[in-house]
Amino acid sequence: MSWLDLPAGTGFGLDNLPYGVFSDASGRRRTGVAIGDSVLDLAAATGDDVHATGSLNAFMARGPQAWADLRARLTEWLTDDAHRARVEPHLVPRSEVTLHLPVEVADYVDFYSSQHHAENLGRMFRPDSEPLTPNWKHLPIGYHGRAGTVALSGTPVVRPNGQRKAPTDDAPTFGPSQRLDIEAEVGFVVGTPSRLGTPVPVADVADHVFGVCLVNDWSARDIQSWEYVPLGPFLGKSFLTSVSPWVVPLAALEAARVAPVRDVPLLPYLDDTGRPWGLDLTLEVRLNGELVSCPPFGLMYWTPAQQLAHMTVNGASLRTGDLFASGTVSGPGRDQRGSFIELSWGGKEPLTLSDGSTRTFLEDGDVVTITATAPGSHGGRIALGEVTGRIEPAPAL
Ligand code: CA
Repeated sequence: MSWLDLPAGTGFGLDNLPYGVFSDASGRRRTGVAIGDSVLDLAAATGDDVHATGSLNAFMARGPQAWADLRARLTEWLTDDAHRARVEPHLVPRSEVTLHLPVEVADYVDFYSSQHHAENLGRMFRPDSEPLTPNWKHLPIGYHGRAGTVALSGTPVVRPNGQRKAPTDDAPTFGPSQRLDIEAEVGFVVGTPSRLGTPVPVADVADHVFGVCLVNDWSARDIQSWEYVPLGPFLGKSFLTSVSPWVVPLAALEAARVAPVRDVPLLPYLDDTGRPWGLDLTLEVRLNGELVSCPPFGLMYWTPAQQLAHMTVNGASLRTGDLFASGTVSGPGRDQRGSFIELSWGGKEPLTLSDGSTRTFLEDGDVVTITATAPGSHGGRIALGEVTGRIEPAPAL
């Protein structure tokens, strides 16, 4: 129970307590925790300057004991009537605050860990060979993205210009992407750094990963398909990656843990037997308010613990603020695909919307919003908030 009057069905109950960075009319940025329809101003409530820095990084760098201690204190403050008079003045209505990018992103890595997504793209792009590449079930495939263009949900998505060349074209042309797409993903934020030369084992994920957010890895498919050989994604991805404002602590997701099903023996450094970190999150993708897909994160083949172990097995170190994303989340059903290239099967099977219009890739003015929920530890569901963006026309050539 809580002295708080929480709205029925809020995804921001006591079993969630996600962290974000907000400002009010004063303009000062500080850390807050979402509870119901409010934000608890942590800088004011704790008196700790670590929450007045304008990003979560300094607090995240303190490590897992500090995260657990504050979570326990917050739970006590928000439940025990004895703290009400002191804490309540530091609750601000969420409708009155401006949210900011919560993390100063250090390195950004994007994986490719949904088997259904990888098979769908394999079937579209390499119809004459096996849908999965030979390495896919042996290691979590990933690439390094552009940390500096990770932006807060709501940042306008300006259609990128670039080179594109259809297989039937004689030469590349330059202009606005005609195949602008989303990738519905889940992101993991690193709090505790690691030492250069020291791999992080799968068992240590909760010592390093602070929390979870939603990611939309906007993708220009025409630019991507021409540029990606042989070194992988570049300008077709780096124009913008949007993230949700609330970082849900890993500790809030204990009830969501599931064991992925795998059918190939793993090398020892990736073996997570007995300590799986699959997460039963349900994503929802909306185009202009209409639900078009419900990607199931619980079916992902590779978990964040394995991605972390793989990312550091060569000795590469972690920094506070590193963000690694899951890769597009897709399930077996058409209405579970996490990108429009899959939903429209490469543009060949347009999606019919409720107003009768059709869509293959995104048009200027389209708004895409991704939300997600997970089982919480109190029996209900907790929310991961939303990541949204509106497509703006490409800059004039
Ligand atoms: Ca991606």
